Amino acid sequence: MPERTIYFDHAATTALDIRVLDAMLPYFTTEYGNASSIYTLGRHAMQAIDSAREQVAEVLGCRPTEITFTGCGSESDNLAIKGIAYTAQKKGNHLITSPIEHHAVLHTCQYLERFGFQTTYLPVDAYGMVNPDDVGRSITDQTILVSIMYANNEVGTIEPVAEIGRICRARKVPFHIDAVQAGGSLPLRVADLNADLLSLSAHKFYGPKGVGMLYARQGVRLLPQLQGGSQERGRRAGTENVAGIVGAAAALCLAQEELPRVSPRISALRDRLVTGILAIPRSRLTGHPTERLQNNASFCFAGVEGESILLNLDLLGIAASTGSACTSGSVDPSHVLIAMGLPPEWSHGSLRLTLGKENTNADVDTLLSALPGIIEKLRNLQG
Ligand code: PLP
Repeated sequence: MPERTIYFDHAATTALDIRVLDAMLPYFTTEYGNASSIYTLGRHAMQAIDSAREQVAEVLGCRPTEITFTGCGSESDNLAIKGIAYTAQKKGNHLITSPIEHHAVLHTCQYLERFGFQTTYLPVDAYGMVNPDDVGRSITDQTILVSIMYANNEVGTIEPVAEIGRICRARKVPFHIDAVQAGGSLPLRVADLNADLLSLSAHKFYGPKGVGMLYARQGVRLLPQLQGGSQERGRRAGTENVAGIVGAAAALCLAQEELPRVSPRISALRDRLVTGILAIPRSRLTGHPTERLQNNASFCFAGVEGESILLNLDLLGIAASTGSACTSGSVDPSHVLIAMGLPPEWSHGSLRLTLGKENTNADVDTLLSALPGIIEKLRNLQG
């Protein structure tokens, strides 16, 4: 067994940054109060949450009261979409999204369709890009929400969200951005993005698992999806995960602070992966060639099964993904690649490598020396 996992799956999750862990630790042991309690220990917990909320608001350039802490990115997406849909159903029943969204968005829209809502799934081009003009053309007087992701979790394409947001604002339709994959890689100031709602998840940028954040612009009305106590100003019942919230805010600040330093290094590693891997016969890059996440290198190989590539890489201690983390293990080709129009011969053989700040040139060398042989072997096996 190799000594160290070479981890190329940062879009699935990341390790907790030790500095984030340090910030969280007191809230597991000495500062264990319930933020709803009025005595000192409780007030400390509430102060920690308040200050975390201020930190997140600072990064997003919004008011602290516009931030709700949730249990994950999926919950943020659910709260944004269902919260708006149920509030606005007297006004209309029409939602607009794209077919390449994460299932946290797609399945939420499909769920709402069972209760009389209708969804328009905008087409994407061969790079997985939504055309903002299509958004404008699809808005009707029944449209109550547009939800488009900032960057795609499988192929890394960065969507023209600011432009889409501008169109939505002009038509007075709320715009939700699923920014879960962008949290550690792209600017997040909500005013620049023309966002009314924006979802984040801490475990994608070296924060803890199980903590999400939802920005909802003041004035946007959301029906809470969890009933119970009045935590999070009544938007999300349940005793707050104080340590997690502290960690999420610390991780977000660190990620955004480190971006100018880390980003060029990660992009350079990604570019080496792309150049090296495209030398393999019958391989192609998936996603946009330039408008893509700095850490995403994703490919398809004709005549190979993605799962077999993963198993072979795993034997060498290399962790990667085919399709999104949530759909890997299933034999169906990814819904993202299908929507991008990739023929099945290609879409079955997808490989996603997503880099992080701990990856090195040596990691890239190891991958580049192993992969061509693996692909060749698998093609020979399949005859
Ligand atoms: N949205 C996108 C684009 C994602 O990539 C993910 C997770 O992979 C989610 C939402 C869901 O986030 P979480 O795992 O925190 O529920």
